[in-house]
Amino acid sequence: MNLILVGPPGAGKGTQAEKLTEDFGLPYFATGNILRDAVADGTELGKKAKEYMDAGELVPDDVIIGVILDALKGEEASSGFLLDGFPRTVPQADALAEALEKLGRRLSGVLLIDVPDDEVVRRLSGRRVSKSGRVYHVDFDPPKHPDRCDIDGSALIQRDDDRPETIRKRLAVYHDQTEPLVDYYESRDLLRRFDGTRTPTDVHDHIRATVATLRLEDEL
Ligand code: AMP
Repeated sequence: MNLILVGPPGAGKGTQAEKLTEDFGLPYFATGNILRDAVADGTELGKKAKEYMDAGELVPDDVIIGVILDALKGEEASSGFLLDGFPRTVPQADALAEALEKLGRRLSGVLLIDVPDDEVVRRLSGRRVSKSGRVYHVDFDPPKHPDRCDIDGSALIQRDDDRPETIRKRLAVYHDQTEPLVDYYESRDLLRRFDGTRTPTDVHDHIRATVATLRLEDEL
């Protein structure tokens, strides 16, 4: 199965991806995580991406397309994948379609998790992350001890791009550059919509049922 998760920042894509990879054993590729690791490691990719990420802007298409297409051609993705954060523009979606066609594969479905802007701002401005990537929220999912990870005790930090000015910029970028993908995939009959304001468990139940159906259809 070749699946894509789409939605505004803070829709819960990462949370759902974690559960879905467990349910269906799919290799998971999150461009945001790949880029944050590259920045932390000080690689060439990280150097190119950092400025854009800190400003809440998208990294240029030619930088990110190569990274993800290489990953998809690799052994790990040979029997399927779950993409989170890619594609984010129509040129990225076209590049993905072309690459999959060359590999003789096609998308199984595009999962859209929808959340209104004011809820995105509420979620992201309270989000805190540990070094290992565990995510907390100061009001909805606080750690046991303020600003410390429950699991490894490391200091929790706020992502640079989760600051209020940057959140607004990321939302504007989402509406402007990524939302056109909704029509793009709807017209190809690939889009499946989920209400991201429901509880994470509810959203997961709905997505899991849909993905199970997509898998059956793929097998026919
Ligand atoms: P995320 O964790 O998915 O919110 O991604 C964090 C940041 O990484 C975004 O705000 C962008 O600057 C950059 N980024 C991630 N994925 C992409 C992509 N497909 N195209 C361009 N930039 C991206």
